Amino acid sequence: IIPVQPIGRFAPSPTGELHLGSLTTALASFCHIKSLGGKWLLRIEDTDTERCDRQFTEQILIDLEALELHWDGDVIYQSERIDIYNDYLSSALRPLTYGCQCSRKDLEQYWAQEIPDKTYEEINQVQPPRQRYPRCCVKADLNRQQHKLRIQLPDYSIGFNDGIQGLQWNNPQQTLGDMVVSRQDGMINYILAASLDDGLQQITHIMRGLDILPMTTAQISIMHAARLPAIDHWYHLPLICHPDGQKLSKQNLAQPIDTRDPSQLIAVALQLLQQPAVDKDTPTNMLKQAIAQWDNTPLQGKQQLHLPK
Ligand code: GLU
Repeated sequence: IIPVQPIGRFAPSPTGELHLGSLTTALASFCHIKSLGGKWLLRIEDTDTERCDRQFTEQILIDLEALELHWDGDVIYQSERIDIYNDYLSSALRPLTYGCQCSRKDLEQYWAQEIPDKTYEEINQVQPPRQRYPRCCVKADLNRQQHKLRIQLPDYSIGFNDGIQGLQWNNPQQTLGDMVVSRQDGMINYILAASLDDGLQQITHIMRGLDILPMTTAQISIMHAARLPAIDHWYHLPLICHPDGQKLSKQNLAQPIDTRDPSQLIAVALQLLQQPAVDKDTPTNMLKQAIAQWDNTPLQGKQQLHLPK
């Protein structure tokens, strides 16, 4: 048996600068994979050309370097890999994907007839949620070049063991429906790109925010359909929240991190991640100590971590 070197990654979408929430994801995935003797890759998830910005990408790289969070190998940019994703859509994933011409308005009308007393948004919030896309186009055999493509996600529960959140089950069809994987303008859906790249980069350990957990079973099924190696270890980190419980996110304008005092920032993030304290030192030395002491146990079962008042 050839021992497999653990490979983790940090995969930010450059739709804004790093904030304390994304920094803790970077730091946790770095320390965890390094504590296992693994590699830590950096992948910029910039397929969404409307929301991503080159300036944010550059700032993310500068911030990671200031924190001495050094990635292994070259940075991968998803915007340069669109051909690879399209190749998968027309080969291994072809049987599962189909052209769709339904507009959002069509779907709103469909649901308005089906469930007249609820809005589209309300329908999508029903628990368990309604099948998201009523599969009107599944048999229409529309031209794949001229339409957006949807993927048929399985309609059964898929389980996986999460190293932080415990055993998880979810039905990708009920959670996401037949999601759009390639828009009419060619924009590739980020779960599709992430699933393919995680397989192609031979990632073994994925540690990321809890906000992505609902998509994980879709990712598992896409990777399986694409005949890519499965992820061995999943970890979904609790979300960093303000003391009042509101999630720190770009949407609610979380402050970008200020890396003028990187050692202080690392100390704050380690404390948030409930890791044992490390001596104030250079970032590299603090990280060495954090790696040696890394422990997922205090995070287990937690969905939120609160910033101090
Ligand atoms: N690009 C995603 C984000 O920044 C993370 C995706 C992942 O880690 O799988 O939220």
